Amino acid sequence: MPPIRLRFVQSATDHRTLPELDAEVAFAGRSNVGKSSLINALANRKHLAHTSKTPGRTQLLNTYVLEEEPTLGIVDLPGYGYAAGASKRVRRGWQQMIETYLIERTSLTMVVVLVDGLVGPTDLDLTMLTWLGSHAIPHAVVATKHDRVKSSLRQRRRQELARRCHLDPGDVIWVSAATGTNLDLLRRAVLAWLELP
Ligand code: GDP
Repeated sequence: MPPIRLRFVQSATDHRTLPELDAEVAFAGRSNVGKSSLINALANRKHLAHTSKTPGRTQLLNTYVLEEEPTLGIVDLPGYGYAAGASKRVRRGWQQMIETYLIERTSLTMVVVLVDGLVGPTDLDLTMLTWLGSHAIPHAVVATKHDRVKSSLRQRRRQELARRCHLDPGDVIWVSAATGTNLDLLRRAVLAWLELP
């Protein structure tokens, strides 16, 4: 399976200023979950999605489109733990930006909620999943950092993670950006969510 060739197009605070797309998949997760590494790995690029070290872009909706199908895209949402040091007012602003995007964006076909495979689902992750469910927004759970968990512990860890997210263990895609585990599976899923064969 070839990488998904992605091109960065725009960052925005308001989804209404983003390009109109036919379909897009959003990636959400707390900061440090491995979101930038995963987007880079899906595209097989080193510096496409900048890691948390890049100030500025991390609090924005960052949009990428498929090189081959520029009406289809991936949106990288701000990491939700990032706001810890910010004022309440700023945090509320970010939350509102993300919620408005998730509720109003008509081209959004799937929200991928990343959960740290080493740490397991945090309260913030579970709040996000519950919120998405209560708004009937299609979402999927992808666990990260598969390589960080010993192989003898993986089955148990997958079961626990799935149970806490109210999913069947088979519904969780567990990837590693570092070793490439299950990246093809996720690439196929992303293309299917974008309604590409
Ligand atoms: P973000 O804040 O969600 O964008 O997370 P980053 O992609 O910046 O990753 C956070 C940290 O986790 C970095 O130190 C990464 O190198 C590390 N990391 C991300 N994905 C993996 C993975 O699959 N395996 C391992 N071992 N480390 C990872």
